[in-house]
Amino acid sequence: MLTFKGGVHAPHRKQDTRNKAVEYMQAPKMVSIPLQQHIGVACQPLVKAGDAVKLGQKIGEARGFVGAPVHASVSGVVKAIKQVPHPSMGSGLAVIIENDGKDEFDDSIKPGDIGSMDAEQLKELILEAGIVGMGGAAFPTHVKLSPPKDKSIDTVILNGAECEPYLTADHRLMLEASHDVVDGLKVIMKVLGVERAYIAIEDNKPDAVQVMADAVKSVQGVEVKRLKTKYPQGAEKQLIYVVTGRQVPSGGLPMDVGVIVCNVGTSAAIARAIKTGMPLIERIVTVTGSGVAEPKNLMVRIGTSFMDAIQACGGFVGQPAKVISGGPMMGIGQYSLDVPVIKGTSGIVVLTREEAEVPEAEPCIRCAKCVEACPMRLVPLLISAYALKEDYDNSEKFHAMDCIECGCCSYTCPAKRPLVQSIRVAKRMITARRRRAAR
Ligand code: SF4
Ligand code: SF4
Repeated sequence: MLTFKGGVHAPHRKQDTRNKAVEYMQAPKMVSIPLQQHIGVACQPLVKAGDAVKLGQKIGEARGFVGAPVHASVSGVVKAIKQVPHPSMGSGLAVIIENDGKDEFDDSIKPGDIGSMDAEQLKELILEAGIVGMGGAAFPTHVKLSPPKDKSIDTVILNGAECEPYLTADHRLMLEASHDVVDGLKVIMKVLGVERAYIAIEDNKPDAVQVMADAVKSVQGVEVKRLKTKYPQGAEKQLIYVVTGRQVPSGGLPMDVGVIVCNVGTSAAIARAIKTGMPLIERIVTVTGSGVAEPKNLMVRIGTSFMDAIQACGGFVGQPAKVISGGPMMGIGQYSLDVPVIKGTSGIVVLTREEAEVPEAEPCIRCAKCVEACPMRLVPLLISAYALKEDYDNSEKFHAMDCIECGCCSYTCPAKRPLVQSIRVAKRMITARRRRAAR
């Protein structure tokens, strides 16, 4: 079985939703669509309070190459453009739309034919549809599909590992829409001019492995790879290593070893946008955790509040202690239930007090468990110790910037040291310092 060194075997906790088909959630009365849902600069709003908008209408234009436009996920009237809570940035500007319940399509929505378009047209459509990485990173996909001329790409990997505990959105997508995943992959291969691709899936999803293998049987150059179930199997560098044997160098990118990695959700979103003409206005979100009455996989309009999505799953059970956007390992704890679902929201996990409680940190006992668990082969205890002393020079010397923030070190530490948290701070400080130096 294909795997990598390090990592942890966290309980999967996927049983509550893995066998539940995706349900369409009714569009809410009000959506709040952030102008920044991607890595890059926030969009320029194209509408103002009082404007009528239609479903799929572009309401925010990308500023610069690294950006992705945003679109209305309901038809209705713009009530305001204002600061709202944001699931990854704390807060940000958003277009608030009151839903008229009509779902009237914008005139720009026109179904397309993948086969009749050339690579440039496909890439332009991916940009215009506002497609970003749906695995959580939210990197604009048209940028990923535009590697510099000196980088020769020969392999595409579709990431269907979904190694985060609790989440099953990608699993259900592969089972229920394998044709969209494969059609999107064909588009990615065409845009990049690549003839070899893999769809990588952890072996705790044997049904998805089978369905995807059947779906690519007649597609030349595409193979399904079954991976050992281990966190963080879906991290880009680990995935590339297990699938191709290539190692992304320190500070490097997948394209440095000739590979582009896309999430299966991104691939399906590309296919749907081209086939239906509808930009990215909805996504599958796993709403789960022992604090949710009826965990589900929901197809949710972008801009739906976490509270509305949780209500669609029967609301809370008892008093929730922690609400996470994404999975419990790399996800982000939320301070408000008004945060909207954005393009990168793969899950909403509600933990009870018992699950969310983190014991007090104790002194390091030098057991080296964090070193064994680190998939990047770092020495987390040292990087963290320097970070806690605000000695960022030494954190950097011990390769803090290579940390992928997977959380394996913190998860495995018997002393419950705040390892990933302190390393994350060190990375931010080092990045800020580099930016200042560059200026
Ligand atoms: S140091 Fe970073 S990469 Fe290594 S286990 Fe900790 S969070 Fe993951
Ligand atoms: S796992 Fe925790 S206690 Fe063990 S060496 Fe690492 S930081 Fe120290």
